[in-house]
Amino acid sequence: MSTASAGGAGQGPSGGQGCGQYGIVANVFERVSAVAGEDVRSLLGELQKCMRCGQCRASCPVFAESGRETDVARGKLGLLLEELGGDLRPDRELYARLTRCVNCGRCRLECPSGADTGYMLLEGRCLLQRRIGLPPVKAAVVRGLFGRPAVLRAAAAALGLVQALLFRPSPVDPRHVRSIWRLPVFGQRMLLPRMRKRRPATAPALAAGRRQYVAPADAPVVIYPGCLVDLGYPELLTAAQEVFARLGRRVVVPEGLVCCGAPAAYAGDADTARRLAAENLKALAGHLDSPGSRLAFLCPSCAVAFRHDYPAYLFGRMSGGTEALAAAGLTMDAVSDVAAKSVDATALAWELGIGEHLAGPPISASVTYHDPCHLRRLLGVHSQPREALRALAGGGFREAPRPDSCCGFGGTFALEHVAASAQMLDRRAGELASTGAQLVATACPGCMAWLANGLDRAGGGQRTVHLIELIARGLGGGV
Ligand code: SF4
Ligand code: SF4
Repeated sequence: MSTASAGGAGQGPSGGQGCGQYGIVANVFERVSAVAGEDVRSLLGELQKCMRCGQCRASCPVFAESGRETDVARGKLGLLLEELGGDLRPDRELYARLTRCVNCGRCRLECPSGADTGYMLLEGRCLLQRRIGLPPVKAAVVRGLFGRPAVLRAAAAALGLVQALLFRPSPVDPRHVRSIWRLPVFGQRMLLPRMRKRRPATAPALAAGRRQYVAPADAPVVIYPGCLVDLGYPELLTAAQEVFARLGRRVVVPEGLVCCGAPAAYAGDADTARRLAAENLKALAGHLDSPGSRLAFLCPSCAVAFRHDYPAYLFGRMSGGTEALAAAGLTMDAVSDVAAKSVDATALAWELGIGEHLAGPPISASVTYHDPCHLRRLLGVHSQPREALRALAGGGFREAPRPDSCCGFGGTFALEHVAASAQMLDRRAGELASTGAQLVATACPGCMAWLANGLDRAGGGQRTVHLIELIARGLGGGV
């Protein structure tokens, strides 16, 4: 990245002078507006909402670790503005700075001027990606793997073979395996979920006396498992099926669901993200027609994609959204209907009254809880998991310090910004370990896998679990 302007946005490592370097701002807006196309004009209009107050610095987890102005929304928006104005050359370094972000949504929710930072960061990466392309490794991951379900499955199977040879089961939790050598890219030994295949989607084997639907059979709970559950934690799907079946709901896991598209969208590859989104929406056709039907997610990042990003960004205000919607043969009403029915699985189970079914003995182990950013912030789910854990573990539930902090996973962020991600992980794992709890519960398979790795490194012997597993275990009676 090189800058032609006197003050490159966010050059100072401390960001202490804020964005005072934008004395050029008014000129840039005028200059770019005069020549820009419609997509850039829309982005510019949103950029103008940023009053450069720096409030977003208070909550950004990446900035909290690095203190670098370009890691926070204000700094990134400044970089975008300079790029649009021609003062900053579009290159890999600029792309790397724009993607130093776990896409947690904190800056969007807390911006006092209502600037839609989520839209601007996605659109900005998208415009840049169209000019310079994706870095090759990232293209291989978001297009070659997550963009192609058959290739992803084959790669997971190959990784499973590698794991059998070069990894050893974790002594704490055998569903994770630890590499015997330092892994490339990460430069250290890593704990990963053991790759497995999801069992075919079938109704759970319920005792005959419990196979009764309380809700109409045409108002099912449709479950979207997500890639990591499919390939690494298939037992979470079984647990969710059991939980909703116990609530008297017909449970459906449609065939043909693919990656939610979030890795591609966050990378700036809107075309791949839209293709995957359209495939998912078509796979769901006919399953959510009843007003009482719900779409339940085991991964809050997938839930945010369906609930917010599809209608608001991918098929909404991002450039090319309306055209992509028409090209896919979809309507905004259909996208919005699916969005309105999308909900976190554990929150839905709690809302439907699973607490009344908890009949097993309390969890004997002590347990703490990690809030996934997307669940707590963007889906507003934070009290229900705690209520569930207090019901399940009684006095054994221990709140961790800084309940709002991020584990540093952020999807491809962990792969691309290894040092920053590891720093965030080590800090969070330390906080969770400081509770002394034996189990670390969370409600996101990504956080679960990443925290398992951090806790393994910390060496305290804690194990990660998904809340839906604990709820299923708490049902007792043969679960
Ligand atoms: S909080 Fe909002 S207005 Fe303030 S600097 Fe950040 S993005 Fe801009
Ligand atoms: S989305 Fe989160 S990580 Fe990204 S800039 Fe905003 S607050 Fe920081």
